[in-house]
Amino acid sequence: MKTNLLDFNLAQLTDHFAAMGEKTFRAKQIMRWMHQMGEDDFDAMTDIAKTLRAKLQASAEVRVPSLMAAQEASDGTRKWLLDVGTGNGVETVFIPEDDRGTLCVSSQVGCALECTFCSTGRQGFNRNLSTAEIIGQLWWANKAMGVTPKNERVISNVVMMGMGEPLANFDNVVSALQIMLDDHAYGLSRRRVTLSTSGLVPQIDRLSAACPVALAVSLHAPNDAIRDQIVPINKKYPLSELMAACRRYLEFAPRDFITFEYVMLDGVNDRPEHARQLLQLVRDVPCKFNLIPFNPFPNSGYGRSSNNAIRAFREILQDAGVVVTVRKTRGDDIDAACGQLAGQVMDKTRRQEKWIRIAESGSE
Ligand code: SAH
Ligand code: SF4
Repeated sequence: MKTNLLDFNLAQLTDHFAAMGEKTFRAKQIMRWMHQMGEDDFDAMTDIAKTLRAKLQASAEVRVPSLMAAQEASDGTRKWLLDVGTGNGVETVFIPEDDRGTLCVSSQVGCALECTFCSTGRQGFNRNLSTAEIIGQLWWANKAMGVTPKNERVISNVVMMGMGEPLANFDNVVSALQIMLDDHAYGLSRRRVTLSTSGLVPQIDRLSAACPVALAVSLHAPNDAIRDQIVPINKKYPLSELMAACRRYLEFAPRDFITFEYVMLDGVNDRPEHARQLLQLVRDVPCKFNLIPFNPFPNSGYGRSSNNAIRAFREILQDAGVVVTVRKTRGDDIDAACGQLAGQVMDKTRRQEKWIRIAESGSE
C-alpha cells in the first residue's frame, strides 16, 4: 500500500525522506505543495526533481477524503461532507465572521462518550479519523475558499468542535494540530486553534506537553450530580479533577484563560442557583464562558432554555466579573450548528446491539 503523505507532520515527513535516502529539505517543499498549494499530484510539483517525483509516484500518495456533498447557508456558513469509507461521512463547517473565518473540524466518526444532549454522541462510535482525514478537512475548505484578494487566508481560526472527542484520538489529532500550526503548511497561530474536550483529564495534561493550543472545556453543569447525568465521562473524571487539570494547563496554554462551554438546557442546568454554583466551582480558574443555546435534534428529549433564562444566567456570571458570550446559532438552514453535525455514522457497536435486540424480541 502507498504511504499517504498527508498523514505526516513535518518531523514525520522529514524522517520519511531521510529513510528514503533523500535530502530532508524536500519535506518542507512537499508540505508547501500539499497544504499551501492544495496539490495532490506529484507531477505538478515542478521544483521537485523528476527522478524523485517518479519515486514518490511509485511509493506514496497525497490522498484526501473525497467530497460527498457541499452546502452553503444564507448567512454564508458552509458545510462539507467528506467520505471516510464504508458508508461513513464526517462534516466540517466554515463560519465567516467580520474579523475572522473559523473552520469547525471533526476528529472521529461518531463519539463514544455519549453526552445525552449531543447528536453525535447518540449515534455511537465508529472509528478515529486518521491525520490525513482530519487535516483533509482543512485542505478541502482551503481549496474551496483559498485566500482573500488581500492575500490573507480565509480560514484564520480552527476549532476542534466538530464530531468526536479530539483527545480520545490523541496522536492523530496532535499531528493534525502540528500541521495546522506549521509555517510550511497552514501557519495558523496557536492562539487561534482551539481544542474542545469533554474533559479527559490525563489527555489534557498530555496535550499541554505535546501541542499546547487554546483549550475549551465542555463544562455544562455546576456540580457532579448534574454533570454525571449529561456528560457521563464525569463519573470517571469528576469536576474537582477537571478544574485542577484546567489550572495545570494554563501554565502552558497560549492564552491566559480556559473557555468553558455551557449548553443551556431548559430546566436542567439553567437556573440562577446553577449560575451561582458555577461561580464557586471556577473561582480558581481564569476563564471565559460560552453559553450555547441547546440545538435541538429529533428525539433529543431536551429543550432550549428561554431567552430570559439565558439572559438571567449570563448576568449572574457577568456581575461577578466573568466574561460571557452567548453563541449565535449559525447555519440554521443547513443544520450546521454545534451538536447537530450528524454526518453519516454506521455505528459498529450499537446498530449491532439493536439488531440483536430485534432478533431476540422476534418483532420487525
Ligand atoms: N467532543 C468535544 C468537541 C465536540 S462538541 C466536546 O464535547 O467538547 C462541541 C461543543 O458542542 C461541545 O461543547 C458540546 O458539548 C456542544 N454540543 C453538543 N451537542 C450540542 C447541542 N445539541 N446543542 C448545543 N451544543 C452542543
Ligand atoms: Fe462526544 Fe463531545 Fe458529543 Fe460528548 S459532546 S458525545 S464528547 S462529541
